Amino acid sequence: MSRLVVISNRVAVPKARGAAGAQGGLAGALNSALKENGGIWFGWSGQECEEFTGSLNIQRSTDGVTTATIDLETQDVEEYYNGYANSTLWPLFHYRIDLTEYEREFGKGYERVNERFAQSVQPLIEPDDLVWVHDYHLMPLGERLRARGLKNKLGFFLHIPWPPSNLFVSLPYHERLVESLLHYDLLGFQNDEWLESFLHYCTKELGADVERATGRVTLNGRTTIARAYPIGIDYDFFMQKGASDLAKSAQDRLAVSLRGRTCMIGVDRLDYSKGLPERIDGIGRFFDMEPERVEDLVFIQIAPPSREDIGSYQKIRETLEQKTGQINGARSDVDLVPIRYVNKGYSQEELFGFYRASKIGLVTPLRDGMNLVAKEYVAAQDPEDPGVLILSRFAGAAQQMQDALLINPHSPDDLAHNIRIALDMPLEERKERHEKLIVTVREENVLRWTENFIGDMEQLP
Ligand code: UDP
Repeated sequence: MSRLVVISNRVAVPKARGAAGAQGGLAGALNSALKENGGIWFGWSGQECEEFTGSLNIQRSTDGVTTATIDLETQDVEEYYNGYANSTLWPLFHYRIDLTEYEREFGKGYERVNERFAQSVQPLIEPDDLVWVHDYHLMPLGERLRARGLKNKLGFFLHIPWPPSNLFVSLPYHERLVESLLHYDLLGFQNDEWLESFLHYCTKELGADVERATGRVTLNGRTTIARAYPIGIDYDFFMQKGASDLAKSAQDRLAVSLRGRTCMIGVDRLDYSKGLPERIDGIGRFFDMEPERVEDLVFIQIAPPSREDIGSYQKIRETLEQKTGQINGARSDVDLVPIRYVNKGYSQEELFGFYRASKIGLVTPLRDGMNLVAKEYVAAQDPEDPGVLILSRFAGAAQQMQDALLINPHSPDDLAHNIRIALDMPLEERKERHEKLIVTVREENVLRWTENFIGDMEQLP
């Protein structure tokens, strides 16, 4: 088995997993792969320095994963991370051209940091290593490594959606970005829809030769294979967490606080892609439709802060606080608050307990590459008395989770209507839906995902 070099913007060592601040679904997935194959995880330390030195901080963790990190300059963080990655690519790739910032300096910073990554990681890569690069921060890295003479097999996985061509072409220098991606040997997307958008772009805008059945994309004599690899959760690991005392006490704590009411839960980073204000509108609509049920239902929204340096994130927080305040103001009583909005993060053990105590899981992003919360909610249910998952049809996960109640998150009526269906769903139907969903969640797990991607990389010519 070849050694693996994983490269991503940030490196999350295992002990940080599940802790507030290290909540992305990526961390656990990659640690599992590295534990299996051995190798190195390279990325930014999260620290800023006055002047870039490229000096590596190398550490070996208790379970055999070596991490190597570099510090970046404050200007790099501003232009590459807050700028191009999170104010240009993130909104654009989540179909939000209204929020997309097209600053020249951001693009330059992005190119510069990708070059810095290439320069720093290259000496760590041995000739037979498989190199697996992650996410939208590092799309040009493969090309940069090739320019330095690297001959290794290079894979890239995009954790977020790929937007339709007619949105993507609003990005200045879009051709250059995609041409640089085509220097990888294998490109992975979360589902067929994003893959299809990418292939459509390659055909229509670049005139590449695209073979749909195999995902082979050929341009200027180079061939790349593009495929869908839907990511899953670390099922066994998550179930172990669910068996802990902490999970049980979190479940009890929540159950006691409900005083017999039904709990509906949402767990999302505070991000405009997650559809949080729209979700609150849908809940408001439900209470308008069935005012008496305010006595029976409590909605808990866990929303740890995210990317707080960026204006659009400050704005979404304000909007959410306002909307929650309006509904609570209108519908609360001295002993009743319909929406509990919690602006902090919890461990996976606690989340397991909260999911299990909740009869409805609300996962309603406007657009999401995959969404692991949907899968965790299903995993945490009691199979004998499972809760109902209400899932946005625009989450990447919807393709695999057709037995959830699928909704249009832009429609408050649709959400309100499906909350009613979920509340009234008979046990038999809940069990039937859960039995089907749990198979996907258990089988199409993160270990399978890494095996599939790495297996395909190994088979590349
Ligand atoms: N998460 C967590 N604590 C929290 C909130 C979220 O550990 O307080 C985890 C959650 O369990 C899930 C991940 O963060 O594993 C979120 O992944 P998802 O794919 O749903 O969304 P992302 O944040 O990556 O966009």
